[in-house]
Amino acid sequence: MDPVRVAAVTPPVEASQGPAWSQSKCPWGAPKNTTISCSLADVMSEQLAKELQLEEENAAFPEVVSVVEGPFITGENVDTSSDLMLAQMLQMEFDREYDAQLRREEKKFNGDSKVSISFENYRKVHPFEDSDSSEDEVDWQDTRHDPYRADKPTTTPKKGFIGKGKDITTKHDEVVCGRKNTARMENFAPEFQVGDGIGMDLKLSNHVFNALKQHAYSEERRSARLHEKKEHSTAEKAVDPKTRLLLYKMVNSGMLETITGCISTGKESVVFHANGGSMGDDAKPVPSECAIKVFKTTLNEFKNRDKYIKDDYRFKDRFSKLNPRKIIRMWAEKEMHNLTRMRKAGIPCPEVVTLKKHVLVMSFIGQDQVPAPKLKEVKLNSEDMKKAYYQVLHMMQQLYKECSLVHADLSEYNMLWHGGQVWLIDVSQSVEPTHPHGLEFLFRDCRNVSQFFQKNGVSEALSDRELFSVVSGLNFTADNDADFLAEIEALEKINEDHIQNHGKKVSSFSSGEEDPPTFCNK
Ligand code: ATP
Ligand code: MN
Repeated sequence: MDPVRVAAVTPPVEASQGPAWSQSKCPWGAPKNTTISCSLADVMSEQLAKELQLEEENAAFPEVVSVVEGPFITGENVDTSSDLMLAQMLQMEFDREYDAQLRREEKKFNGDSKVSISFENYRKVHPFEDSDSSEDEVDWQDTRHDPYRADKPTTTPKKGFIGKGKDITTKHDEVVCGRKNTARMENFAPEFQVGDGIGMDLKLSNHVFNALKQHAYSEERRSARLHEKKEHSTAEKAVDPKTRLLLYKMVNSGMLETITGCISTGKESVVFHANGGSMGDDAKPVPSECAIKVFKTTLNEFKNRDKYIKDDYRFKDRFSKLNPRKIIRMWAEKEMHNLTRMRKAGIPCPEVVTLKKHVLVMSFIGQDQVPAPKLKEVKLNSEDMKKAYYQVLHMMQQLYKECSLVHADLSEYNMLWHGGQVWLIDVSQSVEPTHPHGLEFLFRDCRNVSQFFQKNGVSEALSDRELFSVVSGLNFTADNDADFLAEIEALEKINEDHIQNHGKKVSSFSSGEEDPPTFCNK
């Protein structure tokens, strides 16, 4: 950079000092007076200074000046005073040299090999700026003149060979085959990077081509799998396009005002909060806050639920005829019917607003978009805890006797604390007590409830077996859980046989309201 600066300031100085030097007695003799003497007006003239400087620059940096149009250091170029500009220019010069070296190395590396390695990515100067690449080097941009570019693979005519005698070339010719293989790479999936091999006169052996083909196909399958996963993950969040359309329709019809957000993503469903709208003047009013339970359309989680529904006499007829998608709708339908039954019996639970396929809209338990806490989360004082216990006990009895239902997933996770009382939710898996495993489910519920309240200091809380007896009215003699469970299973078996032998009227689910069968072990 320094020489440039010197060049910039030298000419005027030299011009002004010129005459003084010629008069001085210098030990090396008088310098040859090369400067043209000029008047003071000339010395002060900016125009002249510019011209002189330009001349100097031209002599000192011919390439640089030719690249940049106009004067380099001074003149019309406004950036000339900027160090940045100078630095950039020098950098450019450096880059150009670097790239030229890179090209030489590349050439050396590749030699005469038909398969070449490109160093292009290491280049510093953008090919567009690079105007002075010499003829014998590859033009980086214009592949029409690419010396490495392959001719079109020679096609062999139908007869399978060309030429005669010694010069005969058959379709099995190594070179022809190799070129053909290269050209066939174009058939690989577009995502599969084949490099610039296609453009070169590259001859792939059958062995190499087949390996590449194999890889291309497996890559294709892998990417398809990834894609599939993505699709599934949307489904896992339950808002696949079909669901979105259902939700959109609910908003569009005015039934819902807005869907505000997601409350929970559980194993089997996603629950959203929505502000209620209205369903028309004479329809029943929509609650101001709604919960939308979207049953997941992925089937994985429901597979292990088969036992709940398959043996439920209400569904027995239909289950065998249904495809998995319909079965998921059935879960939603089941939750709706169960909630309706519970509301009828006066059990605090969400009120059903509507059911559309696998999307169930119900009243929201909570306030201002904040769902009521689960019993698991809420900190209750001992009085409230005791109150909660007695309420749960009562609800279990109501559920069993009045609704003829066993919750089958009752725990502190599916009970909400709202308005000073317990609300039951999540009843899609609930079954009738006569379900082949209904009593086992009830016993499990009792165990969860009993353990939770005992752990939380409710001394009045009954043990699981006592609770079971109080809820179901069934009395077993066993004094330990294992035997108790064995007695339960035995009774279930008796009931099952009874149903099979006496051809109990199998009620269709759609009405779902006839008198449910009851147990008696007395
Ligand atoms: P999980 O697998 O977590 O039990 P799930 O698929 O069984 O979920 P639910 O238990 O019915 O679905 O609901 C999940 C959560 O969504 C509940 O724990 C509760 O916090 C919230 N929720 C569900 N229904 C309502 C409702 N009507 N009002 C307020 N919150 C609700
Ligand atoms: Mn739940």
